[in-house]
Amino acid sequence: MTKSKPVHAPIEGFPVEEGEITVGGMPVSRLARRVGSTPFFAYSRDLITQRIAKMRRELPDGLHIHYAMKANPMPAVVQHIAPQVDGLDVASVGEMQVALNAGMAPELISFAGPGKTNEELSAAIAAGVVINMESAGEMRRIAAEAKVQGLCPKVAVRVNPDFELKSSGMKMGGGPKQFGIDAEQMPEVLAELANLELDFVGFHIFSGSQNLKIEALREAQEKTIDLALRLSDLAPKEPKFVNIGGGLGIPYFPGDVPLDLPAVGAGLAEILPKINKELPNTDIVIELGRYFVGEAGVYVAKVVDRKVSRGQVFLVTDGGLHHQLAASGNFGQIIRKNYPVAIGNKMSAPQEEVADIVGCLCTPLDRLGDKMELPKADVGDLVVVFQSGAYGLSASPTAFLGHPVPAEVLV
Ligand SMILES: *Cc1c(COP(=O)(O)O)cnc(C)c1O
Repeated sequence: MTKSKPVHAPIEGFPVEEGEITVGGMPVSRLARRVGSTPFFAYSRDLITQRIAKMRRELPDGLHIHYAMKANPMPAVVQHIAPQVDGLDVASVGEMQVALNAGMAPELISFAGPGKTNEELSAAIAAGVVINMESAGEMRRIAAEAKVQGLCPKVAVRVNPDFELKSSGMKMGGGPKQFGIDAEQMPEVLAELANLELDFVGFHIFSGSQNLKIEALREAQEKTIDLALRLSDLAPKEPKFVNIGGGLGIPYFPGDVPLDLPAVGAGLAEILPKINKELPNTDIVIELGRYFVGEAGVYVAKVVDRKVSRGQVFLVTDGGLHHQLAASGNFGQIIRKNYPVAIGNKMSAPQEEVADIVGCLCTPLDRLGDKMELPKADVGDLVVVFQSGAYGLSASPTAFLGHPVPAEVLV
């Protein structure tokens, strides 16, 4: 019996014209000439805009949507997204500056992340952004810095929940974690907070990332709302917002099924009335990174050598894991699987050979595609790695082996 092979998610956002993948309407070979060098990352303005419109359409009215910048902090991308969202979430002072430069109001920027230094806290206080407190110690340091500056900063409490987001690519809550303050410690921490010169504005409960399972997301959202309601009883005042995290995933590997966003929206529409009733003045926030941009970007590298080793075809590119670590399988994957990859300038040619696509680094870890069915590719052809809009360049070790840093363009 032959089982049909699970296929990669369809890549509809990059239509083929005259045999070439296009990004923002431009054929990839022309785009490569426009950029002037390979490799490069290209992100599509239209695809990002369409994705945000889809979220607005499918998620409940009134739900605030924030962009978590660490997924793609390119300033042009952030500037494009900023006017279309209700807030930005940053995780460093560098990201905070990009968010402020993009024109986002400071009170709509929240600054999360463990290990904020006094210098970073001081910058955040001076900027007037919301600081998501990750520990009781950090709370005391914020209060001390605030006194020095004579300001009363807006603070939110990041809670490490007493549950986890099941089937998540990365779990960031539940059990012992470096993120947030354990839910069990909340009574003392919130009592202490009430006596400090800090303006309590909300709760931040983020349990995980890259989830494609509706039921798991729904269960976590339900528990998050219940936890937020319990904690609000202990808070110094009614929270202005409850950030319920995000975790919406995108399909990367053969067999991954894209998330049914209308179903996520319908689930939220059932859960939210409870908190809206008990806390009518509290905004509910969902924060997403990957879901905004992941599918809107490609990584393009050029084939610089083609060789056959003991019968196996290798396409050696000028790119690799130093730019696109996640596609190489070395960013949290246990078993390496292929991202969707194509020979971007030969989309109409028949798939007539099986080839390995590798990078230019001197390590066997540097692989962009294992045993992929492809058209016969040659030196000069352009390898396109899809699903590269999130956790690409900024999540890769660009200094490893000292090659130049690739360009990024927003098309
Ligand atoms: C990383 C992160 C996000 C974004 O996660 P995605 O999977 O990109 O949506 C959101 N919130 C916090 C606190 C994070 O650390």
